[in-house]
Amino acid sequence: EDDAFLSIGAPKDKLLNGLISAGFDEGSCLSRYHSVEYRKELSHKPSSYLISRLRKYEALHKQCGPYTESYNKTLEQLKSVHYTGPSECNYLVWISYSGLGNRILTLASAFLYALLTNRVLLVDPGVDVADLFCEPFPEVSWFLPPDFPLKNQFNSFNQESPQCYGKMLKNNTITNSKRLIPSSVYLHLAHDYDDHDKLFFCDEDQTFLQKVPWLIVKTDNYFIPSLYLMPSFEQELSNLFPNKETVFHFLGRYLFHPTNQVWGLITRYYEAYLAKADERIGIQIRVFDTGTGPFQHVLDQILACTTKENLLPETNKQQHIISSSRIQKSKAVLMTSLNSGYFEKVRDIYWEHPTVTGEVIGIFQPSHEEYQQTEKQVHNRKAWAEMYLLSLTDMLVTSSWSTFGYVAQGLGGLRPWILDKPENQTSPDPPCRRAMSMEPCFHAPPFYDCKAKVGIDTGKVVPHVRHCEDMSWGLKLV
Ligand code: GDP
Repeated sequence: EDDAFLSIGAPKDKLLNGLISAGFDEGSCLSRYHSVEYRKELSHKPSSYLISRLRKYEALHKQCGPYTESYNKTLEQLKSVHYTGPSECNYLVWISYSGLGNRILTLASAFLYALLTNRVLLVDPGVDVADLFCEPFPEVSWFLPPDFPLKNQFNSFNQESPQCYGKMLKNNTITNSKRLIPSSVYLHLAHDYDDHDKLFFCDEDQTFLQKVPWLIVKTDNYFIPSLYLMPSFEQELSNLFPNKETVFHFLGRYLFHPTNQVWGLITRYYEAYLAKADERIGIQIRVFDTGTGPFQHVLDQILACTTKENLLPETNKQQHIISSSRIQKSKAVLMTSLNSGYFEKVRDIYWEHPTVTGEVIGIFQPSHEEYQQTEKQVHNRKAWAEMYLLSLTDMLVTSSWSTFGYVAQGLGGLRPWILDKPENQTSPDPPCRRAMSMEPCFHAPPFYDCKAKVGIDTGKVVPHVRHCEDMSWGLKLV
């Protein structure tokens, strides 16, 4: 069976061992089959079980997706407030919410949850999702139709909404009697969610939610690590991802294909500035301090990290010329930041002085957008292109707490060096440390034992779910 999957991958394995299905129109989304030309070989292989589940999901999506007979039928359920009998298709609707890095992580989380619970994922296109990503599933769209009845309520859904699961628990409006199962439930899984909302991560609550045909989720968190702590999903997850470190890597490579417009931004930049270097290094700078940078302590930290970890050579301030040969090893450094200050300073250092090794260092930064502009299309295209370009490097330095960096490391299959978060405007020592895995960090996990009904440290339950390097209370897969 495995061989059948592998053979369709040749030549150059543009289908990534069967992770991506064949038969999409190539021209309408060039990145889908051409990304392989810009990337190193996958260092891990997707399991044959993951591949078979993806094909099964695609079939389900085709059967239940927008405007299918099953979709129209399930839509009818929304008209009656309560349960009208089990439906053929059940749905998870993802609301477009938060920054782009966050949204990429939550889409992957929502998709995996849909896969685990046999739901069909439907995506609220927001202002930019269709502009940034190709359709990931063959034949039937993943976008929620614009005439979806609850759509105009998405913005107002919050913890106080009567449809909110946590609120329903607080109000005791949930019983398991069939008559009272609602046709839709809003799941509030955003960073400010409370203890009742967090019961989503308990098996008992999943048993109830399973019966609800329409689940609508708003989240800005990569919540997959906590799914691993739920006994009901444990076996399936271990079959899907024998190597736990690869969850976002494979889901990301499966789901997120830049549209042609964004692919143009990526490939033009790559060919012009990165392709010819012997080695590519990514440095992602995200400063969460208030006030406008650049800050000297951040610059010091970047340089301390890259030289201490041998990512970049030191410079020699005494000599004018180190090597007279025209054939020198070259390194291209891709920096990304909202600010151009760090890039200018690092570039000048390597222009003004030779490196002690004789290597030639080129420093490049595609944009400096100054501040986050979530509603602007060109801005988001550039942000997506930059995350993707970072993922094409050989070695990556990222900033603490940033989902922008998590996306790059996960797509690239890279275990980054993480710049520790500076405290009191001083560079930390050590300046950076190597991540345990390429997985993103879940920033707001629950700390609750559903069975014992007591608080626990969920970072100490199983060896593969641990506290993150960059956020002590976060959880990540290793
Ligand atoms: P996070 O806030 O770092 O977790 O990442 P998000 O992607 O969720 O939100 C930050 C947003 O700010 C991005 O989506 C971009 O809109 C913008 N942004 C932050 N850093 C950069 C950068 O280096 N380059 C570009 N082009 N945009 C950035």
